[in-house]
Amino acid sequence: MPDALRHKVLLDEDEMPTRWYNILHDLPTPPPPPLHPGTGQPVGPDDLSALFPMDLIAQEVSTEQYIDIPAEVLDVYKLWRPSPLFRAHRLEKALGTPARIYYKYEGVSPAGSHKPNTAVPQAYYNAKAGIRKLTTETGAGQWGTSLAFACAQFDLECEIWQVRASYDAKPYRKIMMETFGGTVHPSPSDLTEAGRAMLASDPDSPGSLGLAISEAVEVAAQDPTVNYALGSVLNHVLLHQTIIGEEALLQLAKIGEVVDLIVGCTGGGSNFGGLTFPFLREKLAAGGAGPVIRAVEPASCPSLTQGTYAYDFGDVAGLTPLLKMHTLGHDFIPDPIHAGGLRYHGMSPLISHLYDQGLIEAEARTQKDCFAAGVLFARTEGIVPAPEPTHALAAAVEEAIRCVETGEEKVILTALCGHGHLDLPAYDAYLRGDLVDHTWDDDELQESVARALTRLPSIPG
Ligand SMILES: *Cc1c(COP(=O)(O)O)cnc(C)c1O
Repeated sequence: MPDALRHKVLLDEDEMPTRWYNILHDLPTPPPPPLHPGTGQPVGPDDLSALFPMDLIAQEVSTEQYIDIPAEVLDVYKLWRPSPLFRAHRLEKALGTPARIYYKYEGVSPAGSHKPNTAVPQAYYNAKAGIRKLTTETGAGQWGTSLAFACAQFDLECEIWQVRASYDAKPYRKIMMETFGGTVHPSPSDLTEAGRAMLASDPDSPGSLGLAISEAVEVAAQDPTVNYALGSVLNHVLLHQTIIGEEALLQLAKIGEVVDLIVGCTGGGSNFGGLTFPFLREKLAAGGAGPVIRAVEPASCPSLTQGTYAYDFGDVAGLTPLLKMHTLGHDFIPDPIHAGGLRYHGMSPLISHLYDQGLIEAEARTQKDCFAAGVLFARTEGIVPAPEPTHALAAAVEEAIRCVETGEEKVILTALCGHGHLDLPAYDAYLRGDLVDHTWDDDELQESVARALTRLPSIPG
């Protein structure tokens, strides 16, 4: 039984894990590989080398159980890592629950979210390979901010396509990216073929993450000194994020606590995978005994709970390899909900595979419900959460309320993967009663996904 008064569990810098955990080593069956859209064959290193450095390509396909974190990366991590694990005593008290709620707080990073955990190694490996500039997309602005910061650490240029809707609505994110040294364009832009095509058909297009990816990939593919960086979805991104779960395991061991339920929000799946994979390793090793692991996604962009598990493109223009994932169709444009980081049509192939294999659960939630949990959390714990992790908080709160009825002393863990200081207009809208909820009629959604998938090149073989 842990010390009831303890609020934070901290690790010293020299206790920080020095390896990332690669779940590909331990999966009962491997996930289906990415395919080349032209040949239908699994993509090889050469197909990816126009966009990524060899070290990251090797990590993408590695089946080594652990990968050492380079010393240069550990040095930058130490600016904010190890991150604190908190026990939410005041939230528990407000709920009157016997459950114990823990949150691993990633808002202490330079960008205010978990994304620098992968931005820093991605910039490092690209700089090591002699690359001059990285391009990327950003939705809510979190990833662009993280990559701009990371590029500044390794003397790389950084060029970012920010989804138009968020470029207009979140001027502070743009200023932050520029402060870290990044160059920011609204997407669609007139700088790329993909952007010009969209502007020609809709000059007022609000853009989407899928389109911004097309723009950033197009520019990187044309210049050998320029590479592209993706902030979620891919195996190497989830790998880098496992530092979150490795630290959490050490912190919980310090106080002798054993977790019953892990809930995390999923956009592309990186903070969720980062927190949960090390716990899943322990669970697989224990023959399945261990915490229930549940992903929480927005009801307006429900790739896991209502999407189709199929090969699809990662972007609108179809420039990426085909990924087997839970998808809403690569041209799906989700409602402009405030949790911008969760508005992606697909889901990481690794997370999709785990879901398909029944190793994790998933649920979807509407945004008003989530903001209610976010406000309760802010008033009790003193941190305004980013809109994305309020999805997981809403699930944690619901579970803790269930424990009031059953008297169960359930131990719940979540990743508070970012703070919401630059998302305050979303809280304003919630507090004024201006938020609307959107859910999808299942038939309507299935039809739109099926339509998008018929527009794919037919996969030979
Ligand atoms: C980007 C982002 C997300 C969604 O991305 P994942 O890869 O699913 O983690 C969630 N929360 C925050 C704070 C983000 O910045």
